[in-house]
Amino acid sequence: MIYLDNAATTKIDEEVFDTYLKVQRNFFANTTSLHKLGQEANFMLEKSKKDMMKTLGLKNHDCLFVSNATEANNLAILGVTKYKSGNIITSSIEHPSVEAIVDNIKTLDTYKLKTLESGIIDIEDLKANINKDTVLVSIMWVNNIVGMVQPIKEIIEIVKKYPKCKLHVDAVQGICKQVNDFDFNDIDLITFSTHKIYGPKGVGCLLYNKNILIERVIYGSFGQNGLKPGTLDLALCCSTCKAIKKFYPLTKQNYDYIKNLNEYVINNIKNNPAIHIISRYDKSYYNPYIISISIPNIKGETIVHYLEKYDIYVSTGASCSSKLQKREKTIYQMTNNETISLTAIRISFSHTNTISECQKLCECLNEITKEGK
Ligand code: PLP
Repeated sequence: MIYLDNAATTKIDEEVFDTYLKVQRNFFANTTSLHKLGQEANFMLEKSKKDMMKTLGLKNHDCLFVSNATEANNLAILGVTKYKSGNIITSSIEHPSVEAIVDNIKTLDTYKLKTLESGIIDIEDLKANINKDTVLVSIMWVNNIVGMVQPIKEIIEIVKKYPKCKLHVDAVQGICKQVNDFDFNDIDLITFSTHKIYGPKGVGCLLYNKNILIERVIYGSFGQNGLKPGTLDLALCCSTCKAIKKFYPLTKQNYDYIKNLNEYVINNIKNNPAIHIISRYDKSYYNPYIISISIPNIKGETIVHYLEKYDIYVSTGASCSSKLQKREKTIYQMTNNETISLTAIRISFSHTNTISECQKLCECLNEITKEGK
């Protein structure tokens, strides 16, 4: 099997899985119980959290365990905008879990930043539109469709000038995959999903600066500061911390390895006139984990199923919208081309992929263009 759909989800790492099993077996008590078993479970939780924060270099943040990044994005955005007046700034290429919640906040004005042809947001547009009434800027780190890296460092500097404004960064495709050229401490709200970094599904994180006020949007007990009440699955929390502890320090090493795989694939398809490479692989602000391509006369779905016959797995556009047959908005904004945005496929790597797997992929892609499936 050649699995190249790692931006959709990754296979769980063995060590992370071991952590999951050990904690699930041995620390089953409720972390809020007063008795010894509960206290042991709670100690385990606090220790894991502390280790994760230390790994990420976070000094003043706390961590909220939630079910996935979709929930983390919703809680972050709703939590800092509830009861507020003013405006929100986001981009026109965010993941639906950001875009849809922002669209549903009817009490605040929303401005969506333009995207340049290169797939990054227009920073001048941010400068021109942020103002003293902006309560939130929400921008993703690495784009999940094309792999373009958004200018978070510059965004931090701009947002810092507006004390009322909070910054949210959807780090799902960036964390453990792109070396951060900025300090996580400068971001008020950071979100990610564990299953994208070789951990289990069903858990994600909202890392938030303890000094900011986050309103409750889910009601229940006062677990997790009342922000996400309900009994925690300690094993999922500890495996999240384990995944960060193991893979965050490997970010550069794995990036370099993936870059090599990426270059191999690009070099072996770029001279094929039937293949259009959408990702701007020649830019410094490109993350090599994702390659977006289109073979304009073949539907993305057809390519996915053709490759499947060779036990190769990629996806059309984004995983969550791949069944919708909608034109992909990021690609459309980059290319202004309806056909390309309807036929795109996404190849996404992990450090477990090999050059020989990439070779097989390229052979199949070049073959399908000959056959004109
Ligand atoms: N944000 C980005 C950039 C993503 O790529 C994804 C998933 O693909 C999400 C958020 C949502 O993650 P999840 O499906 O784990 O909720």
